[in-house]
Amino acid sequence: MATIFTRIIQGEIPSYKCAEDENFYAFLDINPIKKGHTLVVPKKEVDYLFDLPDDLLGKMQIFAKKVALAIQKAFPCRKVGQAVLGLEVNHAHIHLIPLEKEGDMIFSNPKLKFTEEEFREIAQKILANFEKAE
Ligand code: AMP
Repeated sequence: MATIFTRIIQGEIPSYKCAEDENFYAFLDINPIKKGHTLVVPKKEVDYLFDLPDDLLGKMQIFAKKVALAIQKAFPCRKVGQAVLGLEVNHAHIHLIPLEKEGDMIFSNPKLKFTEEEFREIAQKILANFEKAE
């Protein structure tokens, strides 16, 4: 059965798209710990990030860099942090999180709530900066 992220990439389940190319898709985490918290996912369905073939993993990191720069432009912050968990969804992904301080990266922090309209606006800002840089 397809993973939830494959179903998102295929448009079967809605998402707030932040960036896309032929190999990767980026969208807002639905339970963000910071405004702009984004997931980067390979279109190839592989469970564990470090099981990706080297060439795809390398391309994914470069794609994630472009997304991180777009996040930082959209939502100015000290740095964008990157994390790999994968404990909940068995489809490789990278979390990108705008950071002001170390505590912003704690995944047990309370999740932020946004309306659909707010999620749409956040994603649109990131997507606009991603596309501008392309
Ligand atoms: P983990 O596998 O531990 O890295 O966690 C999976 C992440 O995916 C969590 O932060 C969830 O909030 C996020 N997530 C799960 N389902 C969706 C969805 N339908 N849309 C956006 N984010 C999701």
